[in-house]
Amino acid sequence: MNPILEQFADIRVLRYEVPGFENLSLNEKLLVYHLSMAADAGRDILWDQNYKFNLMVRDVVEKILRGMQRDNCVDDNLLTFAKRIWVANGIHHHYSNDKFRPDFTESQFNSWYDKYVIAPVTDYMEDEDMKRIFADSQESLRALYLDIFFNPNFDAKKVSLADGVDLIYASAVNFYGDRVSQQEVENFYADPKGKHPLNSSVVKYGTDIIEEVWRQNGLYDAPIRNVIKHLEAAKQYALTEAQGKTIDLLISYYKDGNPDTFDEMNKVWVADKDLKVDFINGFIEVYSDPLGLKATWESVVELRDEVKTQRVATVAENAQWFEDHSPVALEYKKKCVKGVSMNIVNVAMLGGDCYPTTPIGINLPNADWIREQYGSKSVALANIEDAYHEASQSSGVLDEFAFSAEECERARLYGAEADNLHTQLHECLGHGSGQMREGITLDALKAYGSTIEETRADLYALYFMADPKIVELGLLPNLDAAFSHYDSYMRSGLLVQLSRLDLGTNIEESHMRNRHLIAAWALEHCDGAAEMVVRDGKHYVHITDYNKMREVFGILLKEIQRIKSEGDFEAARNIVETYGVKVDIDLHREIKSRYDALGVAPFSCFVNPVYSLVKNDAGEVVDVTISYETDFTSQMLSHTSPKSV
Ligand code: ZN
Repeated sequence: MNPILEQFADIRVLRYEVPGFENLSLNEKLLVYHLSMAADAGRDILWDQNYKFNLMVRDVVEKILRGMQRDNCVDDNLLTFAKRIWVANGIHHHYSNDKFRPDFTESQFNSWYDKYVIAPVTDYMEDEDMKRIFADSQESLRALYLDIFFNPNFDAKKVSLADGVDLIYASAVNFYGDRVSQQEVENFYADPKGKHPLNSSVVKYGTDIIEEVWRQNGLYDAPIRNVIKHLEAAKQYALTEAQGKTIDLLISYYKDGNPDTFDEMNKVWVADKDLKVDFINGFIEVYSDPLGLKATWESVVELRDEVKTQRVATVAENAQWFEDHSPVALEYKKKCVKGVSMNIVNVAMLGGDCYPTTPIGINLPNADWIREQYGSKSVALANIEDAYHEASQSSGVLDEFAFSAEECERARLYGAEADNLHTQLHECLGHGSGQMREGITLDALKAYGSTIEETRADLYALYFMADPKIVELGLLPNLDAAFSHYDSYMRSGLLVQLSRLDLGTNIEESHMRNRHLIAAWALEHCDGAAEMVVRDGKHYVHITDYNKMREVFGILLKEIQRIKSEGDFEAARNIVETYGVKVDIDLHREIKSRYDALGVAPFSCFVNPVYSLVKNDAGEVVDVTISYETDFTSQMLSHTSPKSV
């Protein structure tokens, strides 16, 4: 199956296969089916979290698009704009966080607004006064839309991590009320007891700071009820008693909003390993909050890949060995690594913040104290990685940016395997490793917390990938595969990933920051073991001493672990701002023009497969079938089509 469906703007739309679905029992298929419905049901929560006007924006854009479809006159610029906001779950780019600028004009929008938004309602109104009142009410909305679409300074940035500004005022993301300042939120959560740092919006009434909790009968009541409904259906098909309990606790959490219930759920979930069908669903990752407190809604439903999982079980079994041999200071090592498990899974459904752009690995739960006492579950999303890899075979990016033909050849030979292992080490060992100094939490690093944590996990993977132990355990065929990965990491961190940034902007996204930080720091501290080479006006990274590079990654890992363990905010800020944020403009221009010449969109997103119930004459469900979506636009419109509501 060709994974590439289409390309527009900076996005390539892919689809993923779900190997193994057809071989599931009916019970397992029904579990997947209902969990998938639950994964879809919270979509609007995320849209609203991303920006307070996103649902309105989506509504008006889809109204216009549907009208154009009926009239058979779809405007390309409007369609592209619609696709971009679908990819980003809102009007800000999912990676750069910058607001999209439409390619249609203000006057085009005005005429569409009259024709497809106002007229369809007023045309059916008999009463002239009612007509006028409705039309007038749409005018203030029109003014708002014009500001959102065409005023570049209006809510320009979804998440700002800029140094020295009030991060809440500077970010359009919708976790905090308009009048709430960063200082007020920090004061409010200085004592988080009895509060809801992960799952609430913080607003100000008069002079009081209060939380609006995301739960049934609270904020997001309607979509949460919908999620609960599907979880209740899924519960009947739970594979183990513990899975049934996980679903029960999750439902309770959606009802009471109590963080303790969420913790209880995570404890049961994390202990329930080796499930053939597993899922995540909830308010989980905090990347979109500039303060790193509030979690966006997401869900993934997954099937375990038995064969691939067997192969990497070795990683988990040796977790203590890796921890003991890690270069971090003894006091910040975990004395007893518990419950590190690694499943290789195939995604069956992506939802919320994992859709349509998705991570390739997930390690949860996030609460450090649960990880330390109960361990964590770690998954690599194999079918997603496979789709990426297949799509990249024809792109030409490797040939353009690799230093030599030999480097290309080695990357072709080992690239997929080494990338997979990196993800596994990052998720399974990296995030789960290390120990905090007593009384310190990750919040201490504030806006730098996410970047430091990703840096730590990546360095753990880089350092151990080139350890002879990896070959000994049969995880890589030889160290050349690891060295090939070093080429690829440095190439990506310093060069290729810049193609994703608008020219002249800083790096904002945590994972991009961490890759740049590691590559730039290593380049500067490696005594020439890696060098930037200019040939025919083009920059390349060339590693001459791979063992030395490994040492350098180890030194940096030790320092990053210290920063995390001690909550050393100043050091975090210093290293991130120095190595992770700024980009040389001339190099940036060069990379973008080399990349643009290849005509490959730098970002990818995915459509989900479609599951359908098959019923017999008596109306009983006898099977669940899977089919593969071929059209991005129709899948996106299906979420909001009147039929599906
Ligand atoms: Zn990570």
